[in-house]
Amino acid sequence: MTDHLAGGYDLVIFDLDGVVFLIDKPIPGAADAIDRLRSGGTSIAFATNNASRRAADVAALLTGMGVNAEPAEVLTSAGAAAALLAERLPAGAPVLVVGAEALRAEVRDAGLTPVSALEDGPVAVLQGYGPEVGWPILAEATLAVGAGATWFATNTDRTLPSPRGPLPGNGSLVAVLRTALNRDPDVVVGKPQPALFRTAAAESRAERPLAVGDRLDTDIEGAVNAGMDSLLVLTGVSGPVDLLGAAENQRPTHVGADLSALFRPADESRLPNPGESAWTEIGGWHLTGAGDGVALNGSGSPVDALRLLCSATWSGTALSAVTAASDEARELLKSWDLEPH
Ligand SMILES: [Mg+2]
Repeated sequence: MTDHLAGGYDLVIFDLDGVVFLIDKPIPGAADAIDRLRSGGTSIAFATNNASRRAADVAALLTGMGVNAEPAEVLTSAGAAAALLAERLPAGAPVLVVGAEALRAEVRDAGLTPVSALEDGPVAVLQGYGPEVGWPILAEATLAVGAGATWFATNTDRTLPSPRGPLPGNGSLVAVLRTALNRDPDVVVGKPQPALFRTAAAESRAERPLAVGDRLDTDIEGAVNAGMDSLLVLTGVSGPVDLLGAAENQRPTHVGADLSALFRPADESRLPNPGESAWTEIGGWHLTGAGDGVALNGSGSPVDALRLLCSATWSGTALSAVTAASDEARELLKSWDLEPH
C-alpha cells in the first residue's frame, strides 16, 4: 500500500505555466513527475486558461519541452468555451470571435459560424486573448453585445507572464468592453470557474481527481469551486505570503515546494481543513503564543513552517502578528519578505 500524495488520486490535472513550465522552459523535475504518474497508472490532464493555442498545439509544445502529452489530455479555455456555445446555440449560429485564429477554429469545429462584424448578425460574442486583437474588432464586439448578443469570455486573467514582465492578458481586453458597456461578461469559462476541471474529470471518468496549480485565484479557487482536492506548488505566481493570507475559497488541500510533493507522504504537504483546531508543531518547528499573535520557533523545512503558520493565520491570527523566536525562523520569514519584529 502506498501513502504518497498522488497515490490517493486517479487523475492529476496540471496547470501549465508556473507548474510544468515557466514561460518557455520546463520546470526541473516536471517531465519525470508526469512520466512517473503515468507509469503508476494515474490519468493525466492539462488545463490551461490560455485560449490562443489549440489542444494539439499545446501537446506539441509540451512534447517539444520533453513533457509527454497527448492532445486528448489537454483542455483549453478556447475548446471549453466553444463546446459550451455549441450546447447553447443552434448549429451554424453566427458567433463574433475576438481572439486568436485558434479560437475561431474551435468555434468552427464546434459547428458554429465565426464572424467578425455586427452586420453578420452574431447571437454571441466570444472573447479570448489574441496578440492581434485591436480596436476594430473590439468595437464590433461592443456593438454586438449592445445589440443583445450574449457575451462569453474564455477567461479573465489580468496578465500573461513574459520574459519582460507581466503583459495584458484577456482580462485586460475584457476590461475594454466592460468599460465601454458598463457591465460584466455573461459567462466566463476558464478557471476559477469549474468547467475545465469538471470536463477533465468527466473525460477520464475519474472519481478522485487532484488539481495542481501555482495560482490561488485561478487554479486553487477553481478546484474549490469544482469540489476537488488541490496542491499548490511554489514554482509560479503565488508565494508563501499569499498562502498565509488566502481567503477561504482559495485555500488548497496541500502545498509543496514543487511537484516532488506528489511522491511524498500526503501528511507532509497537508494543510489544515476548515474548522480544524490550530496546530502547534510540525517537524522541527513549533508555535508559541506571543501577545495576540504567534511566534515561530525551532528549525526545519520551509514548507513545514509554512503549513504550521497557515494553521495560525487561517484560524484568525493576523499576518502582522507573526513573529520569529529562533534565528532560522527569522531568516525564513525574511526570505518571504515578512519582516519579523
Ligand atoms: Mg499557472
